[in-house]
Amino acid sequence: MFSYRHAFHAGNHADVLKHTTLIALMKYLTQKDTALTVIDTHAGAGLYRLDGDYTETSGEAQEGVFRLFNVTKAASTLVASASTATKTIATKKAGATAKTPPVEALAPVLQDYVDLLCSLNPQLAQSGDPAHLKIYPGSPFIEQQFLSGRDKLKLFELHPTDFKSLTGNIAQLGVGRQVSVAREDGFEVLKTFLPPPARRAMVLCDPSYEIKTDYARVAVCMADAVKRFATGTYVVWYPIIPRPEAHDLPRKLKTLATKAGRSWLHATLTVKSSKLTTDETGDVKRPGLPASGMFVINPPHTLKAELQAALPQMVARLGQDRNAGFTLDHGG
Ligand code: SAM
Repeated sequence: MFSYRHAFHAGNHADVLKHTTLIALMKYLTQKDTALTVIDTHAGAGLYRLDGDYTETSGEAQEGVFRLFNVTKAASTLVASASTATKTIATKKAGATAKTPPVEALAPVLQDYVDLLCSLNPQLAQSGDPAHLKIYPGSPFIEQQFLSGRDKLKLFELHPTDFKSLTGNIAQLGVGRQVSVAREDGFEVLKTFLPPPARRAMVLCDPSYEIKTDYARVAVCMADAVKRFATGTYVVWYPIIPRPEAHDLPRKLKTLATKAGRSWLHATLTVKSSKLTTDETGDVKRPGLPASGMFVINPPHTLKAELQAALPQMVARLGQDRNAGFTLDHGG
């Protein structure tokens, strides 16, 4: 069975890229009056504790979401739009550090991300102290936050433990049949929902790539989905690692979008070098995930500008060495 558990990775730099992009997409796509079907083929547990054993062991959130808060004076300004109470705190702190150079305002989508974290962590909203960032939303919770009454969210998760956690976490929301959870293979089940009833859909395909064949399955699954329902918005996350399949995936997605006459957008975020290093004892150290990408077929016309504003700030805050950077491409 699978050994990947997203709890080890929740809030890492890849989640920052993936979840800010997801917020931008959900915000735009839920503005229309027609019902939207959101399908999350690899949902994970839905909600994670950043002070739990998994995340504390891996420390990945420290290199991800916490870095958004741990910049000069940022904790006080980041939460400025979360609540009136927070605004007072922000003003006080800003006054107390009058000599500190002003911090650039966050790009709107990063501010939306911080506001969402604050809404799940009331103490964070009140204090601005990242030590109070304890609950982290996975993609299902982010998606659910934006739904209106007519929209539907369909979640698929195969891992028995994560499926159980996801079911429990969603049940707590008390949203009834608007959100469904099934322990099924997300790659296989997608076709049965396309085209959706109101002919509006967004699909997030976010596998763990624990099995090498996941890369090929993503490409096949997306090609099939576009054939069945050409106007859906299809969103793929992938890791950028030295593996041929990982390099090929965005190229395959670009080819399939172009051949189908669909527009696409491709964003990548690199936070550090992918080279192995040696520590003082001579042990070889693996760098961990250095970079990841988001590929979107049929992106909203607003997405490029939103990411153009947010990506340099992600690099500035999350970048660890001079290899840090971003790319943003689009076509069609
Ligand atoms: N989308 C989640 C988020 O952003 O919060 C994270 C998902 S995690 C990267 C990938 C998840 O897919 C894991 O929880 C794993 O158990 C699950 N999984 C692996 N293969 C699957 C499959 N074929 N169908 C559905 N879920 C699968």
